[in-house]
This record gives sequence, structure tokens and C-alpha cells, in this order.
Amino acid sequence: MLTAIRAQRLIDCTGAAPLEDAVVLVEGDRIVAVGPADRLEVPSDATAIDLSNQTLLPGFVDAHTHVSLIPGNGNQSGQKRQPFPNQLFRSIGNVRKMLRSGVTTARVMGEEFFLDLELRRAIEAGEVPGPRLIITTRSITATNSHGAALTYSDGVEGVRKTARENLKAGADFLKLFATGGMSSRIGLDRVCYSDAEIATIVEEADRGGTYVAAHAHGGMGMRKCLELGVRTIEHAGVADPELIELAIKKDAWLVGTFSIAFHPEGIEKGDFHDPVIREKVLQGREVKRERWGYLLRTGVKWALGTDSMHGLISFDAAKVVEFGAKPMDALLGMTRRAAEVCRVADSVGTIEEGKLADLVAVQGNPLEEMGALARVGFVMKGGRRYDLSAE
Ligand SMILES: [Zn+2]
Repeated sequence: MLTAIRAQRLIDCTGAAPLEDAVVLVEGDRIVAVGPADRLEVPSDATAIDLSNQTLLPGFVDAHTHVSLIPGNGNQSGQKRQPFPNQLFRSIGNVRKMLRSGVTTARVMGEEFFLDLELRRAIEAGEVPGPRLIITTRSITATNSHGAALTYSDGVEGVRKTARENLKAGADFLKLFATGGMSSRIGLDRVCYSDAEIATIVEEADRGGTYVAAHAHGGMGMRKCLELGVRTIEHAGVADPELIELAIKKDAWLVGTFSIAFHPEGIEKGDFHDPVIREKVLQGREVKRERWGYLLRTGVKWALGTDSMHGLISFDAAKVVEFGAKPMDALLGMTRRAAEVCRVADSVGTIEEGKLADLVAVQGNPLEEMGALARVGFVMKGGRRYDLSAE
């Protein structure tokens, strides 16, 4: 069965200019044709969807999130120590929110209890509405490091065991914590793992046919990760020009996460009662603004993630534009480039013939006003349209 979606404007996120009055033909879960409405032949039996006052985009890809967390509730590692059912119920609400905001693919950066594995199964089975998930299962972190909740991995053999167990369970990639973070008291440039531990995680990922993502804001932690072969650096909030140069040399990705630090519903709402965290975030905002303002001009590869600010990917996009990115680059950072980070760019991230029919329409033109990205009027994932008003 064919569906013909006609939109006022199409931005396919290949990097091409927008197309006015466009049609996308969908058959089953795939896009079978894309073109201008006055030239593309639409079979008469096709079901028509009229989005004539909206901009059609590929489904958004959140390159860094967690399903079980709500940053505004505070104490994120405490949230990850709660019993499984509490975390699962929160996750179901969170993935629905993501889908409603146009996120049709998300990379999940660490959960306890293999919760992401179970949730992915339920989403794929159609039991829970949510984005397609790229998962790491449990994050690999040292006992005294940021991100430690229930699972700790220490020593070369300790990290090797967690890595192998994660891969056996079905992890798509491995995630380690290299430095402290905004929501804890551990320093942003401190490194908790030894070189040998980081190298072992990279070696196990390699052997498993995948890669390592590392939580690293800057300093020695980020340097070690880049030198030892980590492929994606998460946050990079305080990375200096030397580190950016190294990232370019190593062809690594940086994934920016801004809403959690800047949005009033983020860490500000959850953890500002702790004066150390409050100070860290307030200072971190200024450093992030300055460092990202710099790195956006260097040509380093980057993409965007919400880091658990479910439904707010439009905020992250608006923020990176405020820091100096071109609006089109911000769009690519949450579509094609984010799909490259997740290693799923062959099937999602752009509107092209043969790709999965993950489509989102927004009211207005995001190239003129990024705020349009928050006005989502249509979401389709794998050829299935979601009812955005359903609870
Ligand atoms: Zn994270």
C-alpha cells in the first residue's frame, strides 16, 4: 500500500537546499520516491496525507540520551539505583515523549538492569510507542567515578568482563565514563580510569565489531580517550583547542548536549540545592558557550543529543545555533550526522529513496526560525503514523 505525503517544504537533510511543495511516497516501512509535487507521479490509489502548511524532515535522531532518567527530578545516579519497576515506568513515559517530539531514533547511553534491552524489545514488538533504540546496556564506570549507580567495573579484567557481558546481552556499542560530569561533584577534567582500563574497553569493542563512546568533558580524560581510540566523545563541554585538533586528527565525533545544562527543567531544577553542582553548572554554561563557539568553526565532526531531556531536542538545536552553528548544520546534527554517530546512516537520518520512512513535519521553517522544530505536527516511524494527541 502506497502513501503519498505532500508538504509545503521538504528538507531532506542530505545537505541539499529545501524543496518547495514536495511529495514523499511511502510503501510499507520504506521511502520509495521523493520529488516536487508537479513532477512526481502519484498513483491514484495512494493514500494522501496533506501537510501543505508544514516542513517535512527526516525523523530526528537523538545521539545521546538515557531512557530512565528525568534530570529535573535530581540525583541522577540515585534514580538509576531505584528498583527496576520505578525505572521502567519512567522510561515508558520518556520514550513516548521522545517520539511525540519527532525523535524516531535514539542512542541510549547507559541503563541498569539491561532495561534498554527490554524496552527496545517492547518498542519493536509494538507494545510501547517509542523511537528505535541503539543501546549500550550498562555503562562502564569506575567505583569512584561519575555515573556510578549499581554497576561498577574496576581493573583490566573487571572492565573486560562488563564489556563482554554487555556485548553478549546485545549492546550495540560500549560506553565508558572518563571524567566527572555537570550533575556530580567529580571534576570535569579528572580521569578515573587508567590507560590500561580504557585500552581494554576499546580492544573488546574492536573485537566485538563495534566502538566505544566516552563521557568526557575535556582535560586529561578526553585526551586519553582520543589517544586510545574512543570513537565518540560525549559532551566535550570544556574541550580546549588542542583537544579539538586531536579529535579532528583521530576522526572522532563530539556529541553536544546542551538542554540538560541550560534548560530550567534540567539540572537547574533537580540539583541546584547543592551549591557545588550549582556553581559548576553556572560556570560550565559560560565555558560551554565559549568552547563550542570555537569548535563550531574548526570543522570537527559533531552531532546533538538531549542527555535525557526528553522532548527537548529542538532546544539543543536552537542552542547550538546560538553558539554559532548555521541552522542547516544544526538540522544535520540531529538527523544525518547523528545517524552517522549511531552507525545507522544507511537506513535513517535523511529523506531518500530506499531509507526507512521515518518522517517528521513541523509548523514553520526551521531554517528561518529554529523554534519551529518544537511545533511537531506529524510523526511517522518505519511507515507507521503516530497519533500525537493520544495519551
Ligand atoms: Zn549522558
